[in-house]
Amino acid sequence: MTAARAQKPSHAPFTLMKLPYEASALAPVISDETVGFHHGKHHKTYVDTLNKLIAGTEFEGQSLEEIVKATAKAQDAKTKKIFNNAGQVWNHDFFWNSLDPKGGKPSAKMKELIESGFGGFEEFKKKLTETGVTQFGSGWAWLVFENGKLGLEKTPNAENMLSAKPGAKALLTIDVWEHAYYLDYQNKRPDFLGAVIDKLLNWRFAEANLG
Ligand code: MN
Repeated sequence: MTAARAQKPSHAPFTLMKLPYEASALAPVISDETVGFHHGKHHKTYVDTLNKLIAGTEFEGQSLEEIVKATAKAQDAKTKKIFNNAGQVWNHDFFWNSLDPKGGKPSAKMKELIESGFGGFEEFKKKLTETGVTQFGSGWAWLVFENGKLGLEKTPNAENMLSAKPGAKALLTIDVWEHAYYLDYQNKRPDFLGAVIDKLLNWRFAEANLG
C-alpha cells in the first residue's frame, strides 16, 4: 500500500464500519445475536468480497459511492458482482447509522415533514411498514427526500437510491432481508418493521441527510 493510498481511508481496501453503539444496545428490538451475525458476518463478508473483487481494477482508487454509481447498470457478470457487494456495503453502513438505541422520536423538523408528507406519525409508520412488507424477497425500505418532501421507496437486493433513483435523497433505510430479523421475529417482517420504526429510527441522522 502506498502512503498516498493510506491517507485515503474511503478508498480500497474498505474496512467494516464500527457500529456507532454496542452490539447489545438495540435489544430487545434487535437482539445482540442478530446484530452479531448481521454486522460481524453478513456485512463483513460484503466488505471482504468487495475488496477481493476490486483488487487491481479501475475501482480500486474510487470511493464506495463512486463504485456503486459506476457499476449500477453493469451488464457483465463480474461488474454486477462488484455492484452487488459495493451496494450491500453502502446500504449496511447506512442501515446501522439509521438506527439509534435512543431513537424513535422524530426531531421537530422531521415531525413537521412527516405531518405534511403523510398526515401524521401513525400513517407514516403504516406506509413504511407496507413498503417493507411488499418488497418481495430481499431488499430495503427507504425514507427519502424528493422534490421538497418525504417519500417512501423500496429496492431489491443491493439496489439503493444512488443506483435506482438518483433524484431521491436517502434519509433512512431498514434492511428487510431475512437475516435482519429472522432470529428475533422469524417470518413476522411486519412486527420487525413496526418495532424498528417505533423505537430505533435515528431521526437526527435523517435530518442530517436532508443536506
Ligand atoms: Mn443485511
